[in-house]
Amino acid sequence: MFDQYERDINYLRVSVTDRCNLRCTYCMPKNGVSLLGHEDILRYESFLRIISVAARLGITKVRITGGEPLVRRGLVDFITALGAIPGLQDISLTTNGILLEAFAEPLFRAGIRRINVSLDSLDPDRYACITRGGDLKAVLRGLDKAREAGFSPIKINVVAIKGFNDGEILDFARLTLADPCQIRFIELMPLGDAGDENGGRFMSNTVIRERIETLGPLVPVDGARQRTDGPARLFRLPGGVGEIGFISPVSRHFCSTCNRLRLTADGHLRACLLEDDEVDLKPLLRSGTDDEISRLIEAVIARKPRQHQLS
Ligand code: SAM
Ligand code: SF4
Repeated sequence: MFDQYERDINYLRVSVTDRCNLRCTYCMPKNGVSLLGHEDILRYESFLRIISVAARLGITKVRITGGEPLVRRGLVDFITALGAIPGLQDISLTTNGILLEAFAEPLFRAGIRRINVSLDSLDPDRYACITRGGDLKAVLRGLDKAREAGFSPIKINVVAIKGFNDGEILDFARLTLADPCQIRFIELMPLGDAGDENGGRFMSNTVIRERIETLGPLVPVDGARQRTDGPARLFRLPGGVGEIGFISPVSRHFCSTCNRLRLTADGHLRACLLEDDEVDLKPLLRSGTDDEISRLIEAVIARKPRQHQLS
């Protein structure tokens, strides 16, 4: 499925819940967000129906996300069912890792091979502060369990925040010297109400990269791997076994090669992850046919913007 700018749309990000067991400062305002009613959140059957239709249109990759996906009951069975959808080649998951210790093995058995774990600090107090109460030890146990279960490489998403965790950039980079993980620095995006609370804390990946290069010159990973790894630009430290990735939605946006759609927990489809424009699939789920759902997905793709409007 190509959009009007010749981008091949083959990736669907599915938010299975808006609930989360953390409240990261850059993602949620201090007092939380108003949550969807349980009746508004799509049942797994509805997600499976939409994803099956999307797969017939050319979606080959699905990433499960949230909120925090591991807090939704029945997730492992849902993932097993996803694995049976013809055409889907790749199912991945992004988690904060708090519940990963219990879920790593079941997720692996259900067919997930690629997980991203969000971890912004290796210091227990700082981690608790940024997540408003999270337990770093639980995430570290989850990462160990994920390695044991066979996930490889494990990707760790780090949002670097000026004056907060930027003193840990080199610690994160050094992890790749002995551990075959991928550390991905994601630029802080000014999203929603939480964006205001983080004003002035943005750090560009150019600055982060310069700091890491004090450890040694970064060596780009080969072009073929690079092309299969989405928006991250990947490097290694000399002698490192893991990789360092830079995802720069703000300073160097990747809209010209964006292949993504987003499905929200309440059944809205968005053509851009960073814009609010969306269509509601729920009415068609109740009384429409698969062909009608298919046409609506095509209509969303047709209006995918050339680029996002984040400043
Ligand atoms: N709860 C899961 C987690 O934290 O991994 C999945 C959902 S979370 C919204 C997905 C990713 O978005 C996380 O890696 C998180 O760090 C990132 N994220 C959330 N708000 C962000 C922001 N304002 N700027 C940059 N990244 C952000
Ligand atoms: Fe929850 Fe993930 Fe947002 Fe943190 S980034 S509050 S873990 S959804």
